[in-house]
Amino acid sequence: MVRMPGAQWRPVVNVHPDGVRERRGLVLHVQDDTGSPYGWFDNPASQASSDFWVRRDGHVEQYCDTGTDYAWAQGAGNPYYASVETEGHPDTALTAAQVEAVAHIYAWGHSVFGWPLAVVDSTTEHGFTYHGVGGRAWGNHPGCPGALRRAQRPAVIARAAEILGGGAGGASVSLAHVVDAARRDPAAGQGHTTHRAEVLVVERALRAEGLLAAAWVDGSFGTRTVTAYAALQRRYGYSGAAADGIPGRDSLTRLGRAHGFEVTA
Ligand SMILES: [Zn+2]
Repeated sequence: MVRMPGAQWRPVVNVHPDGVRERRGLVLHVQDDTGSPYGWFDNPASQASSDFWVRRDGHVEQYCDTGTDYAWAQGAGNPYYASVETEGHPDTALTAAQVEAVAHIYAWGHSVFGWPLAVVDSTTEHGFTYHGVGGRAWGNHPGCPGALRRAQRPAVIARAAEILGGGAGGASVSLAHVVDAARRDPAAGQGHTTHRAEVLVVERALRAEGLLAAAWVDGSFGTRTVTAYAALQRRYGYSGAAADGIPGRDSLTRLGRAHGFEVTA
């Protein structure tokens, strides 16, 4: 279950369970209407849904387990990108409250899935893209979300970076602390924590890499986390004793660069 804190959880029937293939980022849409689309998205006849909807006043509804199940928002792009519908019409800009709310969604996606803080006009690159760029394969909605809203994506990303500045995005992790935790937590029993806050930062990044189940993102560098870290090391090209699941400076620094944390001694 991957639900955003602060969003109103309103699950709908129009989702593909466990359909997500990659977590490349977020697609901006315009509703071209007003009022919650919940009823429409919960109606099998509509064949439509999205991960999120943002009301003009910034209220957020979430309709599916983002990053696991996919919504029916952008055709062939559904298994690769999450989606946000925004109340209003293509000829009006996002309100300030909507920019703020979408920035919070993006900042959350950055922390949980590693969505890069980047605007892309693309169906393959990782970042914040838009519906129309997908052409026919993405359902042929060239006017979604319209030039005005499309041009507000840099403001959303800039605000997301600010939001993250005080949180995970600006976190720093001590290599010595994380190594200490990886050596002590597994032997100390289930849920033992040594350097909880820093281990959580690393575990969230492993989760975003698809290597660690959410249940084990608990601040304890236990055997599951060691196994996940070893898989990361192999992904980075290490083998043998260099892929033993105990973080090294190079692998941890590389993970931090991808997920917005700094590594200190
Ligand atoms: Zn759209």
